Amino acid sequence: NKITIAIDGFSSTGKSTVAKQLAKHLGYVYVDTGAMYRAVAYYAMSHGFIDENGFDKVSLIEHLENVNISFKFNDALGFAEVYLNGVNVEKKIRTLEVSKFVSTVAAVSEVRHKLVEQQQQMGKDKGVVMDGRDIGTVVFPDAELKLFMTASAETRAQRRYKELVVRGDEVVYNEVLKNVQERDYIDTHREDSPLVKADDAIEVDNSNLTLEEQFSVILELVNK
Ligand code: C5P
Repeated sequence: NKITIAIDGFSSTGKSTVAKQLAKHLGYVYVDTGAMYRAVAYYAMSHGFIDENGFDKVSLIEHLENVNISFKFNDALGFAEVYLNGVNVEKKIRTLEVSKFVSTVAAVSEVRHKLVEQQQQMGKDKGVVMDGRDIGTVVFPDAELKLFMTASAETRAQRRYKELVVRGDEVVYNEVLKNVQERDYIDTHREDSPLVKADDAIEVDNSNLTLEEQFSVILELVNK
């Protein structure tokens, strides 16, 4: 019997890594909801609705019906890439620039409403691993398995920093750390569905776990 697996937690806690591993192992669909919020943020940036000087929330809300997000499985990569209005934006949404604005965009109720509805549609047939901030609390409160991933801010910033360097982005560690901390703050303090551990979620602190160790811990929970 297929189940729904909800994986929530702070930025760069390795949610997507474990979600991808699980989906592959179980033959489930993986949905990266952070990519959807990033795609909306990218749209807002491209249209000049948000930058260092401010955020034109009203214009973004007005244009939301023109924002069409979809996923397409990439066989070579082994996961689904995100598309914005038919264009593959998978690489463009992973920059520090997008990370700086995404939490502000994700705090807009209208944005959340639209994406949550789409996420519920995508997961309605079960057999899905979804990661994000509000999956176990809002999107699928009845998910059979809920995980809440944690790790220290430094561990997370180190991981994110390495990812950005591997991509070839020019970044400074302290700026990455600051971004991780800022997103933690905005995500936990926003009015609409703030990031919080669901009562029935199982907390997994992976600060001191290798990927293999983490996967076996989680697989045990799945098989329970
Ligand atoms: O998971 P990722 O770090 O790519 O998510 C980027 C941002 O999108 C988060 O910092 C958060 O502001 C927002 N987000 C959200 N709800 C989700 C997934 C992501 O608010 N379910």
